[in-house]
Amino acid sequence: MKIKIKVILFFLIICFSILTLITSINYIVTKNTINEIVLNNLNSIALIQKNQILFNIENNFDKLHLIKNRLGLRTNLEKYLNNPVSEYEKNVSDVLKDSVYSINSFKKIMIADLSGKIIFSTDKTLINTNFSKNGAFVRALKEDSIDNFFIDKNNSPSVYSTGLITKNINYAGKELNNNEKLGVLFIETPLEELLPINHEFTGLGKTGEVTSAKLMDNGEVIAISPLRFMPDSFLKLKIPLSRTDRPIIRAIKGEENIFTDMVNYRNKKILTVTRYIPNTKWGITVNIDQDEVYAPLYNLQRIIIILFIITSILIIFISLYLANLITKPIIYMTNVAMKISKGNYSEKVIINSKDEIGMLAEALNNMSDSFIKYNQDLQEEIVLRVNTEAEMEKFAYVSAHDLQEPLRSITSFTQLLEKKYKNSLNSEGKKYIDTIINASKLMKEQINDLLVFSKLSYEKKNFKQIDFNKILGYVITGLKSEIEETNTKITYSNLPTVSVNYLLIIQLFENLISNAIKYKRNENPIISINAIKQDKYWIFSIKDNGIGIDEKYYDKIFEIFKRLHTRDKYSGTGLGLSICRKIIEIHDGKIWVESQVGVGSTFFFLIPE
Ligand code: ADP
Repeated sequence: MKIKIKVILFFLIICFSILTLITSINYIVTKNTINEIVLNNLNSIALIQKNQILFNIENNFDKLHLIKNRLGLRTNLEKYLNNPVSEYEKNVSDVLKDSVYSINSFKKIMIADLSGKIIFSTDKTLINTNFSKNGAFVRALKEDSIDNFFIDKNNSPSVYSTGLITKNINYAGKELNNNEKLGVLFIETPLEELLPINHEFTGLGKTGEVTSAKLMDNGEVIAISPLRFMPDSFLKLKIPLSRTDRPIIRAIKGEENIFTDMVNYRNKKILTVTRYIPNTKWGITVNIDQDEVYAPLYNLQRIIIILFIITSILIIFISLYLANLITKPIIYMTNVAMKISKGNYSEKVIINSKDEIGMLAEALNNMSDSFIKYNQDLQEEIVLRVNTEAEMEKFAYVSAHDLQEPLRSITSFTQLLEKKYKNSLNSEGKKYIDTIINASKLMKEQINDLLVFSKLSYEKKNFKQIDFNKILGYVITGLKSEIEETNTKITYSNLPTVSVNYLLIIQLFENLISNAIKYKRNENPIISINAIKQDKYWIFSIKDNGIGIDEKYYDKIFEIFKRLHTRDKYSGTGLGLSICRKIIEIHDGKIWVESQVGVGSTFFFLIPE
């Protein structure tokens, strides 16, 4: 991956991580804050509502008791029941009228006899109506009750407060005889008197509301206040007690809690608070739609997304700009470095900054300067060496050539000396003459090798396609006596045909094979010769099982006159491998050795195919 892309990716990942973190934290904190505020608000409304309802219940009971226990009412009703004359009837009716008149919230007051028939009513149309089957009447015979809900003729939710009128005041609801019971008092009031029905929905936004429901004797839960979005729900909307996923059911079951994961009758997710009124077994919920509550959050979400997109675009541009700023000089330096690597050492990086990039540029320039200097030194060295080598070869040739004549004289005169004075020389004299003869022989060998070596420089390439199998056959024949003397085993097969100087390659193999025989260990020499093709070259190997060569001498042995042994141990002039190297150089090749002391050596040479 290119450095520019890496830099851009790096910036993008860092910036997006920070951005995502900040927006997530922001979102969560805002949501929690909204939740807290709204739930606090719902809680306060629920508290106020519950207190208000408790107060209303108490108030209604008080009023009910106040009227049904009035002495004038009880005595006149008793008299009327015993003797229904208009005087008593008027007295009772006056009490009822007074009450309706003085208490605003009373719509009607009625009295039913013990059979359920209405005998007194502020609404004359109801006289003689039979209430014996009415739940309010039936309940009143047992206990005072204030939650007999119904819808009146004008379609407005109403409630009867009912209580038994007795001869004497009946404290603590003790058992009564029939002759003590006088009738049942009905007070009709609007529902608002008991349950505050929120027409304004103050503090409840557009979807919030207070709902209330009651558990009926038949086990059904029924709405006892009209709902905001279902005004006719009063006494109509029924919910099974088993639906504990509805907050109102939880309230009816006495749970006073906060719920954030429930749905309401409209199947909308809501935040809700539940309350329970123990006296009447009513449940209340105060709730609001989550959609409304979280609307600011959704707006915030939209703003965050827009900000995210804008910031992303900005980040991409900034990353591109920064990536360019950082990578431009690097790309520039890379190009210069590539030119330098191709040998264009005069190329220079021109960056004037003082930062790390500037330092790198300077280092690159210094490096190419050093290269130029090194290259110049090397060139000079090569020229010097070539000259010296040429000089040396010339000198070697001249000296070898010129030495031949005096050496011949020394040899022939020493031989004459030996012949003529053989008998008159003592043993010491004979030893001296032997030494001179041996030294002359060695010198002759060395001069011959030196001549061969120095002549190689003038050797013409004169290359022909030669089968190496034939060369080997020829060399082995030439070395026959040495091979037989030492019991040497030489193997080779399938050697290639290559374009070479025939005589030089014979010389090469002669030197390498005779060395492999000469530097043998105590056992019989085994020599194997192979060739493999690599790219456009043939690599030949001459492997022996001789004494081996220490790694530190791998290069030295190819130098002129370099020997690793004294002559009394192994004979030789120290020129064999120098000649081999020269021959290989003439063939534009390379020669080297790999060896293990005490195991054997392998000489490799490589020549073009
Ligand atoms: P020399 O006339 O001494 O053999 P060379 O140039 O042929 O001179 O070899 C140089 C030196 O390399 C030798 O003195 C010898 O120590 C070492 N050498 C050459 N060939 C072998 C070989 N096959 N095994 C071990 N040593 C070798």
